[in-house]
Amino acid sequence: MELALALLTLALLTSLGVNVWLAHRARTPPATLAPTPQEQLPPLFHAVAAALDAGLILVDAERRARYLSPQAAELLGGQEDAAGGRALIALLRDYRADALVGEVLQDGEARELLLQPAPGGRTLRLRATALAHGVAPEALILLRDVTQLSVLERARRDMVANVSHELRTPLASVKLLVETLQSGPPPPVAARMLGQMAQEVDALTQLVDELHELSQIESGRLALQLAPAELAPVVARAIERIRPQAGRKGLHIAASLPTDLPLALLDSERVGRVLLNLLHNAVKFTPEGGEIRVAASPLAVPPLGHPPGAWLLVQVADSGTGIPVEDLPRIFERFYKVDRARTREAGGTGLGLAIARHLVEGHGGRIWAESAEGRGSSFFFTLPTAVDRIED
Ligand code: ADP
Repeated sequence: MELALALLTLALLTSLGVNVWLAHRARTPPATLAPTPQEQLPPLFHAVAAALDAGLILVDAERRARYLSPQAAELLGGQEDAAGGRALIALLRDYRADALVGEVLQDGEARELLLQPAPGGRTLRLRATALAHGVAPEALILLRDVTQLSVLERARRDMVANVSHELRTPLASVKLLVETLQSGPPPPVAARMLGQMAQEVDALTQLVDELHELSQIESGRLALQLAPAELAPVVARAIERIRPQAGRKGLHIAASLPTDLPLALLDSERVGRVLLNLLHNAVKFTPEGGEIRVAASPLAVPPLGHPPGAWLLVQVADSGTGIPVEDLPRIFERFYKVDRARTREAGGTGLGLAIARHLVEGHGGRIWAESAEGRGSSFFFTLPTAVDRIED
């Protein structure tokens, strides 16, 4: 209500008051203007500037700040003492922005620019508008913190680039296979090629399915159905689903869960998905004859970064290729693959762990990995329990 009132006042001020007041001030030649102390501005101006969700700077024809709102001072790195009189360049510390305001003062055309990096690593959008274009032009500068928006924008651009990259390889391969089939190869060769095409189409389908799932999760449309449940059957189901694949590589796969494991507070289907993603990777990156083990245990003390309460720790360990230590912090990012050539051979989208991370975090838990190259990997994740506390 108050904000609405302030905005209304600002609209009025800009259309009438401030312009009139500034136009009046503008009749004084610039050379005789002394920097205006902030308190000489009408109190309403201060009130409106303080109510804005943007920083506001008023500059004279010589690009000296006549007014700097508290938000502007904060956005520019806490320059509270920089009231009337300071040169704009000293406040903004950006020559492009200073020149842009100069142009606005000269021709009266409003202009915008992104200040990047601004103090504190932020991204600021600067909009400069001429107020009284005439004898003594002045400009009003609005500063808005758009850091969050620019991070999202970059993520969106990366996503589009990654998706097109991931689509290009299987599509190129399908195209090549189709062209070869059109040249009428002998039936056994044609049959093999059709098999390869089916594989590429499966990979494309998996990519599209996982992208869809990720976008559903990230847009918050996939609500988790948390309920007290036993973890053991969820683990057993995931292992049964992966067993045929593990069997084809002669991998030994086992679970060791204590019989008195407290009930977890979970969405069984989603935790099953997390386990399946981890087991799928374990099978993919473990050479023939290797071992995969799923374990779970209650934690007496909540791990670092967890809300208070009783937690379970789940582990999926394999004796596979391992992950280089420098890649470990990045494997949960979308599309991140350690060794692109090797992973392409094994198949995979680079989305499985990003999905797993979202689902675990949706439960309030965390997911991480420990690994040594050539000596296997262990993936850990935590889940809340349905009990108040765990006895030591
Ligand atoms: P992908 O679909 O490529 O498996 P993920 O997001 O599930 O995508 O995994 C990202 C990358 O992390 C994989 O491409 C692989 O390089 C690495 N990785 C994941 N799990 C394992 C594992 N158990 N052993 C070795 N590397 C793994």
